[in-house]
Amino acid sequence: MIDLKKELADLEQKGLYRKMRLLESEQAVRVRIDGKEVINFCSNDYLGLASDSRLKQAAKQAVDRYGTGSGASRLICGNTYLQQKLEEELAEFKNSESCLVFSSGYTANLGMISALASRDSLIFSDRFNHASIVDGAILSRARFKRYGHCDTRELEELLKGSGSGSRKLIITDSVFSMDGDIAPLKDIARLADKYEAEVMVDEAHATGVLGERGRGALEYLGVDNIGIQMGTLSKAFGSYGGYACGRRELRELFINKARPFIYTTGLPPAVAAASLKALEIIKAEPQRRVRLLDNADHLRRGLGALGFDTMRSQTPVIPVFVGGSGAAVEFSRRLFDRGIFAQAIRPPAVPRGAARLRLTVSALHTKEDMDTALDNIGNTGRELCLI
Ligand code: PMP
Repeated sequence: MIDLKKELADLEQKGLYRKMRLLESEQAVRVRIDGKEVINFCSNDYLGLASDSRLKQAAKQAVDRYGTGSGASRLICGNTYLQQKLEEELAEFKNSESCLVFSSGYTANLGMISALASRDSLIFSDRFNHASIVDGAILSRARFKRYGHCDTRELEELLKGSGSGSRKLIITDSVFSMDGDIAPLKDIARLADKYEAEVMVDEAHATGVLGERGRGALEYLGVDNIGIQMGTLSKAFGSYGGYACGRRELRELFINKARPFIYTTGLPPAVAAASLKALEIIKAEPQRRVRLLDNADHLRRGLGALGFDTMRSQTPVIPVFVGGSGAAVEFSRRLFDRGIFAQAIRPPAVPRGAARLRLTVSALHTKEDMDTALDNIGNTGRELCLI
């Protein structure tokens, strides 16, 4: 028998053992977790839509009309009007010719990358890209070349040395999920043009958050020559599901070739209905985005003033650098006892020696919430000799 106990003990000994906490209230700024009221700084529900009454209502109506499960994959009989409507609306929002909705952001990356690349393709990937991009590349069997984080000089070297003849795909997060910084998309697009590569960008943490209309980092940076975008409906949209946007043929290609689209059950109609409502709100209420970015600035500045290193964060994802995994876990544990919920992020999600707290801000945090967090983070950081 495989010695699972030993494997788990090894993880524990390395400070890498993971446990789930139990959320006992709805997703919100103030939550009840493991029996304790805490202020939540871990959620990707950036705009506070996950418990918005309008999304709830939209989902309930869809349940009444279409039932709960979607019954089969979309190519069999699990494709309803709501999923298609969501795709039309997302394509328009993203200024793209087409959109295909997947069951999650994770499966969108898996499906898109494995449909776009094959054994004789080359994938160029930022070292800090999300795990789903790495897994998509593995599924595609393409040759996988990682470049240093946001290091366009190294990317160019790799592109230069790659010769011609193979399909080249550069993939990057736009907002990095554990660092909160933004990829140099303009430079990446320029290199792609120069070396005849295609770029795919993961806008999971940028959609609904950045840009004048909330379209994402491409809008924020004024980049209009990147042809393949993915994102998720599980973060700013407060819902669930992933999407791929781009030219018309991409949707057709994914429907025909993306195994994580073909061989999984379609997104439940009520989830699509919640996403549609979220999109309506994202377009109609830009003040949520303004508040979110204001909150992020306030928290980031406060952490900096306390002497913490928030790395290169420019977005509502705010890392607080710690270093060792054990210290990061202890930091998080003490904060939880003080009513602040901030998760420790450890390898392999981040490089070894770069464990951190990862704080995320919501449009619904008040200044008071953030100041309470800053007081507690400061006091705890001093206790642990981190500042
Ligand atoms: N890409 C990035 C950058 C992410 O952070 C995530 C979620 N953590 C995903 C993709 C996957 O999205 P989902 O949670 O919808 O599967």
